[in-house]
Amino acid sequence: MAQQADFDKLANLERPHKSMINIMPLQTGSILTDAARRALVEFGDGYSVCDFCQGRLTGIANPPVNKFVGEMLPEFLGCDEATLTYGARDGIFMVFHAMAKPGDVVVVDANRHYSTAVAAERAGLEVVAVPRSDYPEYVVDVEAYAAVVKERKPALIMVTYPDGKYGNVPDAARIGEIAMEAGVPFLINGAYAVGRMPVKMDALHADFLVGSGHKSMASAGPSGVLGMKAKWHDVVLRPSVESKKKEVECLGCTVRGVPLATLMASFPEVRERVNRWDEQVTKAQWFATSMEELGFSLIGEKPHKHDLMDFETPAFYEISQRVRERGYFLYKELKERGIWGIQPGQTKALKVSTFAASQEELGKVLTAFKEIIDKYR
Ligand SMILES: *Cc1c(COP(=O)(O)O)cnc(C)c1O
Repeated sequence: MAQQADFDKLANLERPHKSMINIMPLQTGSILTDAARRALVEFGDGYSVCDFCQGRLTGIANPPVNKFVGEMLPEFLGCDEATLTYGARDGIFMVFHAMAKPGDVVVVDANRHYSTAVAAERAGLEVVAVPRSDYPEYVVDVEAYAAVVKERKPALIMVTYPDGKYGNVPDAARIGEIAMEAGVPFLINGAYAVGRMPVKMDALHADFLVGSGHKSMASAGPSGVLGMKAKWHDVVLRPSVESKKKEVECLGCTVRGVPLATLMASFPEVRERVNRWDEQVTKAQWFATSMEELGFSLIGEKPHKHDLMDFETPAFYEISQRVRERGYFLYKELKERGIWGIQPGQTKALKVSTFAASQEELGKVLTAFKEIIDKYR
């Protein structure tokens, strides 16, 4: 039974991350902008964006959801039309559910996110994966899409751009060409791309592009975006027979209140920051090289093209085998040095994102790693 102290805890929620250097891949692209932090309070109450709604979420003029969804997002995503979702997985499910019927095949990459498989399962689709290269790069063989598509006649082709484990960025434009030749609609999962790096759906020859507000667009979330070609409007955004202003795949209305208000408030900065992507890649590559100099090895593409990186760190694992705290020593040592984002207990491999930290801060992370190795030598 819950005690009074348990209820008190609920009423005084806290996180220990404040003013620390954040390298957690899930969080580095979703740290709120100052504008979003203001919107968070202003729009904190439930249904707060609905003050002036006339029945259609994406038609609301105050706050300007209509301009955001109708003009700004399509331009940003390089697509004809956009809509709001609860996250990348929800956009993927919407497309699966609208574009395919149970028993159909969807061709995906071997580095797909688990939520792709779950969305397919919910929609009753069979997932067929295109192979990837072996350890340590795990690069998706984009040319292999052609043969798999020819053999399995899928309702949809999909790629994870980049994947959420290694941060490999496949040649999505080439897959788009293969999809066009085969006449199969093409969906790009840009959960780790949209809001971090420049992505234009049309330039990649895609029919759909999914992004995650709380992964890469500085939104509190849960929120996401879905861009599409105009020709799919009547399929994916078809209205309900009963309520003409409500779209079936959106269950009427998707994100309301804080998720949407923070997504919109951050957008002016997010659309600018993608133009500095080359600086992010340079920083990530410098960090990867420095990590390798410390004796760690980068798993995934080399040279790396994304801030999300997976390193093998056998030196930390070896320490964990002989210290009292076991795997928790690393989390503790890093926390003491103001570094946030390594999961407690993790030592064998570290998934890191360099997106939010400056080069100077990343220098502190590298120094910390080195100090910890030396301390337990
Ligand atoms: C995080 C992630 C998702 C899920 O994103 P949500 O917006 O939380 O649904 C999907 N795909 C990849 C590759 C991811 O990294």
